Amino acid sequence: MNAFNVETIRKDFPVLARTVNGKPLVYLDNAATTQKPQSVIDTITDYYSRYNANIHRGIHTLAEEATEAYEAVRSQTARFIHAPSERTIVFTRNATESINLFAWAWGRSRLRAGDEILLTEMEHHANLIPWQMLARATGAVLRFVPVTDDGRIELPRVEALLSPRVKLVAITMMSNVFGTLTPARAVVELAHKQGAIVLLDAAQAAAHMAIDVQALGCDALVFSAHKMLGPTGVGALYARQDLLEQMDPFLGGGEMILDVQLTSATWNEVPWKFEAGTPNIGGVIGFGAALSYLEKVGMDAIQAHEHKLTAYALEQFTHVPEATIHGPTQMIDRGGVVAFNLEGLHPHDLGTLLDGEGVAIRAGHHCAKPLMRRLGVPATARASFSLYNTMDEVDRLMEAIRGAQAFFKRQPVKR
Ligand code: PMP
Repeated sequence: MNAFNVETIRKDFPVLARTVNGKPLVYLDNAATTQKPQSVIDTITDYYSRYNANIHRGIHTLAEEATEAYEAVRSQTARFIHAPSERTIVFTRNATESINLFAWAWGRSRLRAGDEILLTEMEHHANLIPWQMLARATGAVLRFVPVTDDGRIELPRVEALLSPRVKLVAITMMSNVFGTLTPARAVVELAHKQGAIVLLDAAQAAAHMAIDVQALGCDALVFSAHKMLGPTGVGALYARQDLLEQMDPFLGGGEMILDVQLTSATWNEVPWKFEAGTPNIGGVIGFGAALSYLEKVGMDAIQAHEHKLTAYALEQFTHVPEATIHGPTQMIDRGGVVAFNLEGLHPHDLGTLLDGEGVAIRAGHHCAKPLMRRLGVPATARASFSLYNTMDEVDRLMEAIRGAQAFFKRQPVKR
């Protein structure tokens, strides 16, 4: 691996060269979606320019090339998360669909009234609503591990909520609001002791740290390509092969069948049993280029770089007395997401003023409304880092924040 060089990396991302409102773009909305390197854009263009064809069904050259490229990314994805076999990787549209797939295909025929699903108070709606829907359909009950005031979950609280009634634990590996890295490995161990299976939501974690599903011991894990330098419209579900084999299909249609009669059908082998219809072939192939890019830079180097950026940002915020940081203020078990509120300045107004300076952050509830209620705020501002962000960009963020504060002091807004 080459030494990590952020300036070299930045040159690979064409959008970073643009200006917004006359200022060089500072893109700090990476938790929502990351920018794409030229290699991903080129790989997708190359697919559509040279070998666009539907996969699995054709016997002509283009179909064979497309199938080979698509299936190669399945193997690459399995290697990326250290899965034991490419058979354990199901391609979906996004992390949300992966969770819905698992919830219905695993849960609908297994859960009974009174069974429990254990979540945390800081889950993204994607890891909350599908379980609410499943609970409504089966009579299962949702339980929640509380979050501490500094945005962590504590293992004794997890342990106290676990019992033989809990059939599944679904927990984020990295909070999209707090940036907290949860003790996923320890949660898996505790859950397995009580006979529960564990799904990890790695939508945030997968772009920022090395993931090893076998070391984690999890039963399922989900992520989205678009948050890891890949295109939109592609996600993945990893699940233990024996679980996938026992699970019912989620969607029915072409490709997921072995044989079909007018009134019945038998299912294809896993993972194809879960990939009904024509998938996002170009997107999956583009995702392969994104994984290659992440692998080339190295996940440990990426994590170390983002760690430095986040520590610097948190340090800078200590000089802004009006700022409240939500989540861990120390750099222990923490990734590159910084959610904050500024006294007297609504996050949406801040976001608009920062955009005027070319600084892109997010303002809102971050698809975590119950967590906003727990924090007692309607919304927060959020800056989130990726491998291509720089210390100078943190300075630009802080300058823009100071500018926004000065602007609002001069002209208090009437609402
Ligand atoms: N989980 C977490 C922790 C997330 O941050 C997100 C995206 N913001 C999701 C799940 C859902 O990802 P997607 O919208 O790509 O399905």
